[in-house]
Amino acid sequence: MSERIPVIVTGAAGRMGRQVVQAVAASPDMILMGAVDHQRVGEDAGIVAGIEELEVPITPDLQSLCALVAQEKQPGVMVDFTHPRSVYENVRAAIAYGVYPVVGTTGMTAEQIADLAEFCDKASIGCIIAPNFSIGMVLLQQAAIQASRYFEHVEIIELHHNQKADAPSGTALKTAEMLAEMGKTYNPPQVEETETLAGVRGGIGPENIRIHSVRLPGLLAHQKVIFGAPGEIYTLRHDTTDRRCYMPGVLLAIRKVRQLKQLVYGLEKILD
Ligand code: NAD
Repeated sequence: MSERIPVIVTGAAGRMGRQVVQAVAASPDMILMGAVDHQRVGEDAGIVAGIEELEVPITPDLQSLCALVAQEKQPGVMVDFTHPRSVYENVRAAIAYGVYPVVGTTGMTAEQIADLAEFCDKASIGCIIAPNFSIGMVLLQQAAIQASRYFEHVEIIELHHNQKADAPSGTALKTAEMLAEMGKTYNPPQVEETETLAGVRGGIGPENIRIHSVRLPGLLAHQKVIFGAPGEIYTLRHDTTDRRCYMPGVLLAIRKVRQLKQLVYGLEKILD
């Protein structure tokens, strides 16, 4: 019996899923037990990911795979990079079978996340949801928290490829939530503003932090947090140039999630 961590990748035919399949296949302490997607059904997950054949055919049936993995000696992990529409049900299914979810899919509502947290508590099972698995983004968020002690004015601009389904990005929202936790309301009004074009000043996030979303082909995932004060601008900027940047965080989460007994939201919570 293998001592490697059994992993199911859900969304295995997608841009992120293919990257996760590659990363799991290259990790000696993990074994890809299943690949779930509605596309490329029947094709080998390794071939779809652009690597060698792994003898793991893509199937649309997550439940059956979870049932299979539940029989393994080692507790299994389900990594989800799918769609805001399906992620909640996928995570519930995994938890119901005792399979630990690692979730990168963004766009779940706060109510859905709270509901999943309750479900994890009842089942006494760990789950890691991270709207951004890149280490650089965690560092940007920590720098933003530091800056927020000294600045009253801040806005966030996130820029993504135009295939992204949800807006604002989960990362931008999470960054705003982290700044909001500093216990103050930002951007005290200076003048009475009018918008002659609806929405042009962006969406208003927690504690009055404005978030602006740009969608264009050619972009991957980018974020700026801009602090302003009389006479100075402090800009924090993170650029993703390749989806490989997310893999160290995803692999870390796969290794850590089985030690947890509750839902954890944010990569920063599991970094040493
Ligand atoms: P994508 O469209 O390329 O891939 C999604 C895949 O999921 C598709 O192949 C689709 O067929 C499949 N899918 C959809 N519903 C499914 C279901 N019910 N069961 C099985 N498969 C299903 O998208 P992507 O660019 O890979 O992004 C996926 C998600 O990950 C998005 O929510 C995106 O915002 C998020 N994302 C998160 C991070 C992070 O670090 N957390 C990084 C990049 C992207």
